Amino acid sequence: MATLDTKLVDVVGDRTAKVLATGIGAKTVGDLLRHYPRRYVVRGELTDISTLKADDEVTILAEIFSASTRTLQGRKGTILEVVVTDGSSKLSLTFFNQAWRERELKVGRQGLFAGKVGVFKGKRQLAHPDYELIADGGDVDSAVDDFAGKYLPVYPATAKLPSWKVAQCMTLAIDALDEVPDFLPESIRLEHGYTSLKDALIALHQPFDIDAAEKARERLTFDEAFLLQLLLVVRRQELRKLKATARPVRSGGLLDAFDKSLPFELTGGQRSVVSEIENDLSASHPMHRLLQGEVGSGKTVVAIRAALAVVDSGGQAALLAPTEVLAQQHLRTLEKLLGPLAHGGMLGGGEHATQITLITGSQSAASRNESLALAASGDAGIVIGTHALLGESVAFKDLGLIIVDEQHRFGVEQRDALKSKAEFPPHLLVMTATPIPRTVAMTVFGDLDISTLRELPLGRQPITTHVVPSLEKPAFMERAWSRIKEEVALGHQAYVVAPRISASAPTDSDMDFLFGTTTSELASVEELAPTLHSGPLKGLRVAILHGQLGSEEKDATMRSFTMGEIDVLVTTTVIEVGVDVPNATIMVIMDADRFGVSQLHQLRGRVGRGTSPGLCLLVTNAPPDALARQRLDAVGATLDGFELSRIDLEQRREGDVLGANQSGTRSHLRLLRVLRDEGLIDLARTNAQRIIDADPTLAAAPELAKALALLQADAAAEYIDKG
Ligand code: ADP
Ligand code: MG
Repeated sequence: MATLDTKLVDVVGDRTAKVLATGIGAKTVGDLLRHYPRRYVVRGELTDISTLKADDEVTILAEIFSASTRTLQGRKGTILEVVVTDGSSKLSLTFFNQAWRERELKVGRQGLFAGKVGVFKGKRQLAHPDYELIADGGDVDSAVDDFAGKYLPVYPATAKLPSWKVAQCMTLAIDALDEVPDFLPESIRLEHGYTSLKDALIALHQPFDIDAAEKARERLTFDEAFLLQLLLVVRRQELRKLKATARPVRSGGLLDAFDKSLPFELTGGQRSVVSEIENDLSASHPMHRLLQGEVGSGKTVVAIRAALAVVDSGGQAALLAPTEVLAQQHLRTLEKLLGPLAHGGMLGGGEHATQITLITGSQSAASRNESLALAASGDAGIVIGTHALLGESVAFKDLGLIIVDEQHRFGVEQRDALKSKAEFPPHLLVMTATPIPRTVAMTVFGDLDISTLRELPLGRQPITTHVVPSLEKPAFMERAWSRIKEEVALGHQAYVVAPRISASAPTDSDMDFLFGTTTSELASVEELAPTLHSGPLKGLRVAILHGQLGSEEKDATMRSFTMGEIDVLVTTTVIEVGVDVPNATIMVIMDADRFGVSQLHQLRGRVGRGTSPGLCLLVTNAPPDALARQRLDAVGATLDGFELSRIDLEQRREGDVLGANQSGTRSHLRLLRVLRDEGLIDLARTNAQRIIDADPTLAAAPELAKALALLQADAAAEYIDKG
């Protein structure tokens, strides 16, 4: 008898085992049984031939309508043409020099035919298809072939391995299969009415009816969600066991001074997140919290308060930002809000003052050395930086808190690099302005505690978004530029965003996977700025900003823009995240169809941050019926970041939804789709939590512990260590 670990060689023989190994990567019985059918065909229910599209790889069930062999004209050889039908449409199958097949391809017989749909003289056909003749629905009982059931599984086929070959191997494996140990605890199985693992596997491959197949599929999908959630719950439990220095809030220090100088009241949402964070910081195990919030919801203040609390208690905080522009902005914000308290050790610095320093890749050696010294000595309570902060030369005296702003730009390894700079596990706060649907968050960040800021500060005016089809309606484009002039006349400022820096540069768009990087027609900052300055925006103060400028230049430009000395900033996506100039009220995005939904939402979040309404114009050359236009319309239709991120994710492949650092676990997710299977993921989370609460080491569930260990091992390398 075979187990799931039995080598396929012992079940299907040497040659077939080789084909299975190369064809579908299956080496054991378990591997094979986890190769799930894509769908089923029902014996007697013929495939609708009219739905077949050219170039599709298909496996169809059809009946032979006619078969005839003729000799080729002017060439040696014969051609056998078999016409199959579903009762109304017809499809022809052609075989060269295989006249002998005419004997078995008898009119009236049914079979599975597999191949690539081609078109010949305007008619669809399958050239040299693989086929397997079967007994029709009427005489299943007398069937002599391998397909005894009514439902025939259809597997993703490869040339060497047609669907029915896989099915034959499946039958061999299932017939040889002994009892399969079931890792899913019985209580959970009963709760959901699931069958045993063995029965589920059999029902999926050889279903008695479609309901049984569906139920089996649900159980196996649940298995995937459950094991993954179990992994995350266990992971969280382990993080909680780590020791960290508690950093309880102290009064009379920097934090109090900061609160006093804050020009606004915290929103209710901010206040509750603040108290969650303060709770975490005062515990003696490390905080692992994700703060997700709508663009402009005020995450920075919350993060700064956490940093100051840690400084007050004698530790240091590191603030990691994805761009230099944002890092510089954080420095300016902190210096402004803290005033003299940001100048510890200097004349005029207050009693509790600290220092704040910036570490970026493009600073001069002298200023870098100064910053490194401040970080290492502990004199700098807050160290802000880009990825340069991860460099080996960067050391801290007592790193107590790591804040990662705009986390979707940072990978796991980078966070780990920072953590290794602390003696004890530091507290961690990860922030993202790309709110993701709850179940995606649960799956991708399942070992983090999640705080969400949904509301925007009071007094915000909504952003209006319009799509501007520049080719169809050139007058609209002129109107866009005059809108900028009107805003500037009111004392406001504008962004014009282009996908490229220069005519020859690649784009800054995250949708290149759709378009490739041929960019000849796309707007660029360096071409656009002078054109606007000498043309439609004549008389306005126009400046450019992009990632290739030196750090001083970037800083100087952003400073002037912030102070209102520049009217129009022509820029790339360097301003996509975090940039905060409340006086900017209008943004024109050129070639907006090149950007993804979430990216556009982020970009647009740069305006409407003050008390005046914001306007965002999405300029596009894409034709009205293009998919890209639908994306733009979607962005125009809602300001809800959660909804937009869902639309964005739905357009991506599952692997992209989960993110690159899920590759270790991804191979275990065959059936689960995070967006579609929300309900299952929810249940799985609750069940996993309950199991671990009752039995933290899974002592009473050895099979489950084994399955988990397997997943942990595969996940280990790249692990979802968001913490
Ligand atoms: P994000 O969540 O996108 O990072 P920011 O933290 O940059 O948002 O905040 C956006 C703007 O809102 C900033 O100008 C900030 O000073 C302001 N802000 C934050 N909290 C409040 C509040 N409670 N009331 C008024 N304005 C606020
Ligand atoms: Mg921000």
